[in-house]
Amino acid sequence: MLKGRTALVTGSTRGIGEAAARTLAAQGCNVMMNGFGDADDIEAKRSQIEADSGSTVRYHDADLSDEKQLDDLVDSTEAAFGRIDILVNNAVIRYFHTVDDFDRDNWRHALSVNLTAPFFLMQRVLPGMRTLGWGRIINMASVLGLGARGGRADYVTSKTAIIGLTRAVAAETKMEPHITCNAICPGSVLTPNTEIKISELAKADGLDFEEAKAQYLLRRGQKTGYIEPAQIADLIAFLCQESSMDITGAAIPIDRGRSATWLDGADG
Ligand code: NAD
Repeated sequence: MLKGRTALVTGSTRGIGEAAARTLAAQGCNVMMNGFGDADDIEAKRSQIEADSGSTVRYHDADLSDEKQLDDLVDSTEAAFGRIDILVNNAVIRYFHTVDDFDRDNWRHALSVNLTAPFFLMQRVLPGMRTLGWGRIINMASVLGLGARGGRADYVTSKTAIIGLTRAVAAETKMEPHITCNAICPGSVLTPNTEIKISELAKADGLDFEEAKAQYLLRRGQKTGYIEPAQIADLIAFLCQESSMDITGAAIPIDRGRSATWLDGADG
């Protein structure tokens, strides 16, 4: 259990971040949610998580590409809860262009949300964690931090870099055994974003949704099914336990063996 801890989970208004907020709150954490979406919908999720867990759950609408808003997110979390024990860098923005067609402003935007914001947030929370003598940082990477697909240069670059950044922070905190920093590398998780991509595939290829859902996985070499957001949330919560204090600097795949078997079927 994580009673008395405070978790800041970026991009927690839907998908994996929402599941992480729910699971951490259920384990006793006070939680600061963040991300975009319909205000009524976000408030409904926040109050439901609070009611279900009995933990205090707040929400801040910071746009992480804006440094002032990012700082305000940290200040507001500390003002509300007095501390930040757990940081989950989960928010993401994705553009889908080849390198040739990538707009420079979109590139800067993606890198600012996916890489620079996690860096600034870690910079902000680490001093407090050192004072507390305890901290957990979980950076959401991806199988696309371990290998590439075409048309995903912003994503592949930021997810690969965040694994390096995770190791860099682990190196700088390794003499503080109760502070850990790890990356999680999921395969395809059935989140609202994935459902949008499946619908696009269905439309483009004239498939019904269920056919497209199966095709989407097949084309990614993850043949046995989708991962649920709650499973990623459970891994995040596991990394926050006392018993996980010896795991730091890791990039942990949770991908049904996808990244371990990329060479299956290759010649030689
Ligand atoms: P999602 O697209 O459903 O949600 C992204 C969240 O980030 C939302 O809450 C959104 O409002 C927020 N966000 C976007 N831009 C923001 C900004 N500028 N400032 C603040 N918040 C912002 O994402 P998801 O599919 O749940 O993925 C969550 C994480 O897991 C991401 O880091 C993603 O790269 C990683 N991941 C997801 C999958 C998958 O299959 N869904 C696979 C591998 C890795």
